[in-house]
Amino acid sequence: MEIEKTKQMAEMISIEEALQIIKDNIPGPAIQEYSIEDAIGRHLTDNIYSPEASPRFTNSAMDGYAVRWEDVREASPTLSVSLKVVGESRAGIPYQGQVKNGEAIRINTGAMLASECDTVVRVEDTEEQDDSVRISASIKQGQDIRRQGEEFQEGDLLLHEESIISAPQAALLASVGITKVKAYKPCEVAVMVTGSELVSNGDAIAEHQIRDSNMIMLRAAIQESGGMVTHCSRVSDDRQATIESIGQAKADIILCTGGVSVGRHDHVKEAAEANDYAPLFWRIRQKPGKPLYLAKKDKTLLFGLPGNPVSAFMCYAHYVRPLISALNGFSFGWPTVSGEAAADIINRGKRANMIRVQLAWRPNGGFSITHAEKQGSHMLTSLSDADGYVILEPGQTLKSGERSDVYRYVFRREPV
Ligand code: AMP
Ligand code: MG
Repeated sequence: MEIEKTKQMAEMISIEEALQIIKDNIPGPAIQEYSIEDAIGRHLTDNIYSPEASPRFTNSAMDGYAVRWEDVREASPTLSVSLKVVGESRAGIPYQGQVKNGEAIRINTGAMLASECDTVVRVEDTEEQDDSVRISASIKQGQDIRRQGEEFQEGDLLLHEESIISAPQAALLASVGITKVKAYKPCEVAVMVTGSELVSNGDAIAEHQIRDSNMIMLRAAIQESGGMVTHCSRVSDDRQATIESIGQAKADIILCTGGVSVGRHDHVKEAAEANDYAPLFWRIRQKPGKPLYLAKKDKTLLFGLPGNPVSAFMCYAHYVRPLISALNGFSFGWPTVSGEAAADIINRGKRANMIRVQLAWRPNGGFSITHAEKQGSHMLTSLSDADGYVILEPGQTLKSGERSDVYRYVFRREPV
């Protein structure tokens, strides 16, 4: 989709146009080699093939006796067979000698099988006395043995390039001696909040002041999305201070909040451009979050999120979060779930509305979607009480019983 540059800045654009501009400007993800420990939660860039077979050597699946099957083929509950116990193979200490006809060795789970043996008799089916063992159960040839390579062979595919390294994958890699993997590097994000009215949570507050909730909100959201916060700052509504603060922020993504509307004290756009950021769009036909601004310098994308915490969060959820996913090697997208409206949900406004909704699980009936009560863009409870949002076009009604996708507030690192 080619969107005219002049239109992007002069007119409000649609949600789809804004998303397309972001997608057109995503730099390639960064890749790094990590130790297995540091790769937990990361996303592999390449297929991983095994350097060795598993099991590495044929071993016992049980505690018992390693035998030659030909010696015990006649054994049964009514006919016991006695073998001479000539040694032991323990986990980590294999038996060094040979096992001849009529002989057996004690063996532990995981211990190497002597090469002459082909079967393990469980300790429960035996009785040991005076250096010999009596076996009085029917024994199948090859029972209770884990054969070399029965799980996978050297060169087999172990992990697909889209795998996320979590505990089982880390264990698998460690089990075959792999110590390092290539994974996507989490994208770096700088956060800069603007507003002369802001004080930090915990500090003394005057009647006319506002507690800064955007900083913690964005930091948490970035962390949950798999991004890495590398820089945080807060500036007053001062042109020069805003220019300097943006100049100091170095990251893949810079998130500014506030100061992006048309007020006399809104300096973010001007300050970004004074730092040679090229504007990509400003203002989207949506509610909340109309004044969203995007600019680019080299590979860095700078968002001017609105100051209202709800607007800032909705812009984050719909535009920044999928971008972080893409920079982390996932696809650009959202976690969604399909649900059924419990009652009519209507957009009576003139812009697309990101309506916050609650989801309820109805046993055997999937999710129901309910319009969250308070929707004011200054009301954080409209987020904390909601599970996600639906987007309705102006005049659109999601009728009771109608299905819709809900964009969920799930920011965990999941493939989407
Ligand atoms: P602005 O976009 O700068 O005009 O801010 C819009 C509204 O959001 C104002 O009521 C601000 O006080 C409020 N606001 C801006 N930044 C923050 C913040 N970091 N935390 C809480 N409220 C904020
Ligand atoms: Mg402000």
